[in-house]
Amino acid sequence: MVRGLLEGKNGLILGVANANSIAWAVARAAHDAGADLAITYQNDRFARRVSKLVDGEDMAARLYACDVTVPGDVRSLFEEVERDLGKLDFILHAWAFAPKEALAADYVETSWDDFATAQRVSAHSLVEVAREGRHLMREKASIVALSYLGSERVVPGYNVMGVAKASLEASVRYLASDLGALGIRVNAVSPGPINTLSARGVSGFGEMLKQHRDVAPLERNVEAEEVAGATTFLFSDMSSGITGEVLYVDAGYHIMGV
Ligand code: NAD
Repeated sequence: MVRGLLEGKNGLILGVANANSIAWAVARAAHDAGADLAITYQNDRFARRVSKLVDGEDMAARLYACDVTVPGDVRSLFEEVERDLGKLDFILHAWAFAPKEALAADYVETSWDDFATAQRVSAHSLVEVAREGRHLMREKASIVALSYLGSERVVPGYNVMGVAKASLEASVRYLASDLGALGIRVNAVSPGPINTLSARGVSGFGEMLKQHRDVAPLERNVEAEEVAGATTFLFSDMSSGITGEVLYVDAGYHIMGV
């Protein structure tokens, strides 16, 4: 990591569940690059684990619970962050969820409730974060969301999550357009498959990892630290001319036809 790249910047990392979370790798990279951080976990179930991670890293980050399905949680998160940390220079959106049944059955079976849940947690939550957080963001601030190739290609088993990621990526573009006048950039990073809590909910995930290794030009899977590196670049002023973009960190997998 480039030391000092995020020196003097404040960042909010949304969605650490455990040590394998991509959001945790991003938090560590941003901390190493000099940022002061606020970190969220979903609810009490994750509180102790995330607090131990932060203590172990000695990063003095502030911790907040935030569940986007609880009305008012996102708004009160930003009120608390403003009180404790002040203005923000970057936000990572790493929230995603779809009910297991919707990932197990064929996409054609998707119920409205499962469709709506996936959209709410995995896509509309970015809109809510941008709306509630924009007044707190400094000029040149950067929002980064985590997407996946299932947004534009059929990945068996990814189903309703793929449709939510399509919506997330479209939201990145619309939000980039809305917030550009405030100097706020909005981008997505699209990682290849990485073994995390959420990923294990996708049926056939082990096969996905293998297929990726077999097809990707770099002939391997990617590490969360590589996603964190690209995200840190998008947080930093080095990417000041980039907005509305989806940046693949997938060892080149998405360029392959056969
Ligand atoms: P993860 O399970 O560590 O992170 C997902 C986070 O979403 C968790 O912290 C979880 O608590 C949070 N979340 C779920 N429902 C929520 C709610 N109602 N309110 C607030 N938070 C909620 O898994 P991850 O793989 O690190 O996922 C992070 C992001 O990366 C997700 O957007 C995921 O789709 C994306 N992604 C993951 C992979 C992969 O292979 N792991 C690949 C591409 C993109």
